[in-house]
Amino acid sequence: MSKNKSSESVKVVVRCRPLNRKEESNGPAGGVVQMDLRLGQVILRNPRAPASEPQKTFTFDAVYDANSKQRDLYDESVRPLIDSVLAGFNGTIFAYGQTGTGKTYTMQGVWLDPEKRGVIPNAFDHIFTHISRSQSDKQYLVRASYLEIYREEVRDLLDPNHANARALELRESPETGVYVQDLTSCVCKSIKEIEEVMNVGNQARAVGATDMNEHSSRSHALFLITVECSQPGPDGRKHIRVGRLNLVDLAGSERQAKTGVQGQRLKEAAKINLSLSALGNVISALADGRSGHVPYRDSKLTRLLQDSLGGNAKTVMVATLGPAPQHYDETLTTLRYANRAKNIQNQPRVNEDPKDALLREFQREIARLRAQLNHRKWRSRQKKEQVEGEGWERDEDEETEGEEEEVEVEKEAEEYVKLEEQRLEREKEAIREDQFLLAEEKQRLLGEKERMMGDLRKEQEATEQLTAKYKAMESKLLVGGKNIIDHTNEQQKMLEMKRHEIAEQTRREREMQQQMLVRDEETLELRETFTSLQQEVEAKTKKLKKYLKLYTKLQCIKTEIQDVNDEHVRARQELEQTQNELTRELKFKYLIIENFIPPEEKNKIMNRLTFDPEEDQWKSQPLVPTESKSSQMKKRPASAVGYKRPISQYARVAIAMGAHSRYRAENIMFLELDMAPPNTASRDRPTEAEPNPSPSVDNSPTKDRGVRKSRSWCQTPKSITSSSSNVSLAACHTITPTAAQ
Ligand code: ADP
Ligand code: MG
Repeated sequence: MSKNKSSESVKVVVRCRPLNRKEESNGPAGGVVQMDLRLGQVILRNPRAPASEPQKTFTFDAVYDANSKQRDLYDESVRPLIDSVLAGFNGTIFAYGQTGTGKTYTMQGVWLDPEKRGVIPNAFDHIFTHISRSQSDKQYLVRASYLEIYREEVRDLLDPNHANARALELRESPETGVYVQDLTSCVCKSIKEIEEVMNVGNQARAVGATDMNEHSSRSHALFLITVECSQPGPDGRKHIRVGRLNLVDLAGSERQAKTGVQGQRLKEAAKINLSLSALGNVISALADGRSGHVPYRDSKLTRLLQDSLGGNAKTVMVATLGPAPQHYDETLTTLRYANRAKNIQNQPRVNEDPKDALLREFQREIARLRAQLNHRKWRSRQKKEQVEGEGWERDEDEETEGEEEEVEVEKEAEEYVKLEEQRLEREKEAIREDQFLLAEEKQRLLGEKERMMGDLRKEQEATEQLTAKYKAMESKLLVGGKNIIDHTNEQQKMLEMKRHEIAEQTRREREMQQQMLVRDEETLELRETFTSLQQEVEAKTKKLKKYLKLYTKLQCIKTEIQDVNDEHVRARQELEQTQNELTRELKFKYLIIENFIPPEEKNKIMNRLTFDPEEDQWKSQPLVPTESKSSQMKKRPASAVGYKRPISQYARVAIAMGAHSRYRAENIMFLELDMAPPNTASRDRPTEAEPNPSPSVDNSPTKDRGVRKSRSWCQTPKSITSSSSNVSLAACHTITPTAAQ
């Protein structure tokens, strides 16, 4: 990928957790990971290699050892990214590493312990504190969504029906890039509300963990925050900037094949590994920069992270490591991944005035409600002034200026309602006391006044409802300059600024140290000119040292190549094993198909199958014909209307006349009893006197059945004239004795 001015590389930081109790009890070997915090280097020792073998060194943007604090990681590596999101950039933070190395600890941490709160709660604090401190002409709208990718299916964790909900689809738009269709998104007004959203989602994940065995470590979780900010521009119009933040806690990256899974579990593992290996392939393709094709479409995860890797987002990758010697291979793989990711270039840009900004819709709706309310209140005011006998000169459509006047109008409107009520009560009293009015007239007038009071109340209720709706909408928008969080006092602000400065300084110092290290090697060559023997000796010693250094580097690279080869062999073996499993299963399915499914059925099914590249699976087309075809099939020919089958004109006339039973289309069977007495005695009980019963008795169908089932047209040959009837008749004669046998 070509570097241009606006491009910036993915920021990669590495964090190593402390040895846990189990690992400590395994032996005194200690950890295999060492860190140089000043230089941002990780030094990895191979526990199986001889001591003479050089250790592997990787350099990153920052490294955090076992004693590192959550707050330091946030201030140094995450804070600048969140600031960018608040300025309208897209940002992503993802934790990558083997299971149990601290991905969830880094992203979420321990919520109740302020010292151990992870990236996500700190980001919540940061966002809402920033809003509370911004200028009062800025309006914000913050939304949050929470999803997980489990077995290559995207699921909404905020859906109340999460467990039974169908998988969500990914869509792409030129405006927002790849997005999840129908994903729940909650408007959050405070830290408390956004934490509540996170809790709800975490509980949905926790349910999965108990039901589905290790579910949580097998799914990728994405918490998405959208911050929309509206601010008047130099042109006087309000401009909206939208920053999207993805907080990603990936599933463990260890090889599932290590656990020796088979069958269904193997397929599940293959799916989990699929997204991680797809992520690896995307990182490799982007870091390599030579291959034009980046396989984003290989998995849901890579499609969702498309903007974050090689796209328009700013990205921070936190690679987590475990220090235990038994996980050396996984640690090395994680470090290699992280090292490769450093080379990915993104082109971040601000999302200015996008069409789909929700804030714009909110502003429009609020303006509409406000106009409605103003109209109502001004009307009440007008009436009040009419009641009081004052002239009304103001244009009712005129906008109210400022909150004070609005409050005044509101008060006046309320006063008007009160005055009206009092007036109506007074009038009612007067009617009641008027002795010159007839009882009926009194009743009518009182009813009228009651109705007027009812109308007044209804109007007041409608205004109250409108006000409540307006206030609810407006409260969703956060306005800068208002105190959202209690502890935003000046001192705290100063403290945070200082902390920010220190973090920035540390980062710069580390960068300088790294640059100095590179320059040291270069300056060695410049000192080659010497005047005395002593200098020559010194120079040659330096050269020797340099060659020694180069030699060690060469050795490192050689072992690196060997390691990579070994890893490829291992990966290939695992793939072969998976392939063998799947081939065996395929053969089994083939066997069933070839032996138990008729070829024509198989062909029919195959003709109905189509491959959906979007969802990466085969789909069968419905058996039921399309709408137009089915309506065609339902249509009966005109000749068949009213009959079971089409029938000729001649036959219809013949039926009407009852001429011949040949043309009977319905009820051709006569189900009458045969009145001839059955002669079963000789058959049921053959006697000695009748050893050979006469064949003529046996030939009679009536004797055989007792009841003759039917008498069809073919048994009355008298009126048959046509040649076809003769054929039928002949056939019938031959059938009758056979039937009796
Ligand atoms: P993962 O999400 O990578 O599977 P977890 O975040 O669940 O791993 O961490 C596993 C365990 O290690 C947890 O008990 C967690 O408290 C602990 N842990 C992880 N990282 C750290 C750290 N930096 N400091 C202290 N404990 C840690
Ligand atoms: Mg985890």
